[in-house]
Amino acid sequence: KLENATAKAELGRAAWKLLHTTMARFPEHPTKDESLALKTYISLFARLYPCGDCAKHFQKVLAKYPPQTGSRNSAAGWACTVHNVVNQRLKKSLFDCKNIGDFYDCGCGDEDGKGKE
Ligand code: FAD
Repeated sequence: KLENATAKAELGRAAWKLLHTTMARFPEHPTKDESLALKTYISLFARLYPCGDCAKHFQKVLAKYPPQTGSRNSAAGWACTVHNVVNQRLKKSLFDCKNIGDFYDCGCGDEDGKGKE
C-alpha cells in the first residue's frame, strides 16, 4: 500500500499533542507508582506506535534518552527533547523547550486532573 504522508503527519500531530498534554498534567510530585505508570506508558507508546518505521526510530531515541518521570517538569522537558530529536531527523525547526510551560492545556477545567467531585 502507498504511503499517505498526510495521514502520517496527522497521526503524528495527534500523538504528540496527547503525549505533551499528558506530561503537562502529570503530577509535580508523583508517587513511585505514578512514575512507573508513565515510564510504562511511554515505552508501550513507542512500541505500539502505529507507524512502524516511526516506532522503530523512536525506540532508538528512547534508548539514547531514557524517559524522565520523576516530576512534571522533568517529564515535560524530556518529551520536548525527544520531539526535537524527531524534528531534527525530519529537518523541521526545533521547539524552544523553555516555552513548554502553558503551551499544552487539556481544557479539562480542573486543576489537578482528578476530575470534579
Ligand atoms: P509536529 O512535529 O507533529 O508537532 C506538532 C506541534 O507540536 C508543532 O506544530 C508545535 O506547535 C509543537 N511542537 C513542535 N516541536 C515540539 C517539541 N519539541 N516539544 C513540544 N511541542 C512541540 N514522521 C515521519 O515522517 N517519520 C518518522 O519517522 C516519524 N516518527 C515519529 C515518531 C513519533 C513518536 C511521533 C509521535 C511522530 C512521528 N512522526 C514521524 C510524525 C512527525 O513527528 C510529525 O508529527 C508530522 O510530520 C507532522 O509534523 P508537524 O510539522 O505538523 O509538527
